[in-house]
Formats: sequence, structure tokens, C-alpha cells
Amino acid sequence: MASQELIQKLEKTIENIPDFPIPGIQFKDISPIFLNPKLYEEVIEDLVAFSKGKVDAVCGIESRGYLFGIAIAVALEVPFILIRKKGKLPPPVISEKYDLEYGSAEIETREGQIQKGQRILIHDDLLATGGTTEAAAKLVEKQGAKVCQFSFLIGLRGLKGDERLKKFNAGIYHILEY
Ligand code: AMP
Repeated sequence: MASQELIQKLEKTIENIPDFPIPGIQFKDISPIFLNPKLYEEVIEDLVAFSKGKVDAVCGIESRGYLFGIAIAVALEVPFILIRKKGKLPPPVISEKYDLEYGSAEIETREGQIQKGQRILIHDDLLATGGTTEAAAKLVEKQGAKVCQFSFLIGLRGLKGDERLKKFNAGIYHILEY
């Protein structure tokens, strides 16, 4: 669990941008964290403490999930696997389609990077509706691995992302909740 001090520092650092990228959305900009290496280190320590000894690999969701995901994997001394939007990774890939508010999207991993039976942490910067993370978890599990944990810097209460992820019976952690 994050200390109150870390939570307060992050609340002061993360910027809230109204009506971006579309009207009605309040965008949480985590980029100011990278201006403060000590704070970045504290965030990684906190996320690493949640997963230590519990996972065999980390999957990060494009693109902000990479910013912390790789550092978590390195600290845990486990592999890091990229989950990318369709068409960015060279073949062979494994894909998963999912519905968006309008239309659909697809995410991919390189075939053979996730091993059967591995315990996986899925990491992203922010959990909103959970649609992206749910698709990532399906993509992992269709390769015979088990999603054991989800971690985020931020969870948006009210959009019910946590409920959508319940079916995976995995631990869910966010440092901050709005
Ligand atoms: P969702 O699939 O609805 O849970 O959306 C999660 C993805 O969209 C994450 O990769 C976030 O980076 C991004 N996202 C959604 N809502 C916001 C927001 N209010 N501020 C910043 N990023 C967001």
C-alpha cells in the first residue's frame, strides 16, 4: 500500500486537463512525474512491492504502460512483454479484438514471448472502463498463461473498471483513485 506521503505527492504532480482529448473527458497527465526522478523511483518501489515474488513476467499496455512496466520488470528480474496496437509488431503475433464505444480495436503480442503457465502482471498507467485491460488479459490467457495481478498508477472510480476485471480472479492495485 502506498504511503499517504506518496499519494499526496502524486496528487500534486499529476495534471488534470479538462476536455482532452474530447469534451467531457478529464485527462490525467502523468508526464510531470518524469521531471522528478526521485518521485519516479518511489512510484516504481511501490508498484514493485505489490508484485514482488508473485509474477513470472510483466505485460505492459501501449504506450504509457511501458513507462513504468519495464522498470517494474527489471526490478523484479522477470521478462517484460509489449502489448501493442494492431499492426505495430512484426509477425508472428497473437491478437485480441475488443469493442470501443464506437467501433472496435485490436491488440497484439509477439507469438512465443508469453510462456504457458506463467503468472502475469498486466500493467498500465490508468484504469478507466477496463476495456483495454480486459482485452489484454484475454490475450494473455489465450496463450496459456494466468493473469495474477493488475497494477495501475490511477484508477477512475465510477467507470467500474475493477468490476470488469473481477472475472480474472487477480489482484488489482492502483496507487491513486479519483
Ligand atoms: P479503458 O480501456 O477505458 O480502461 O482506458 C484505459 C486506457 O485509456 C489507458 O491506457 C489510459 O492510458 C487511457 N485513458 C483512459 N482515460 C484516461 C484519462 N482520463 N486520462 C488519461 N488516460 C486515459
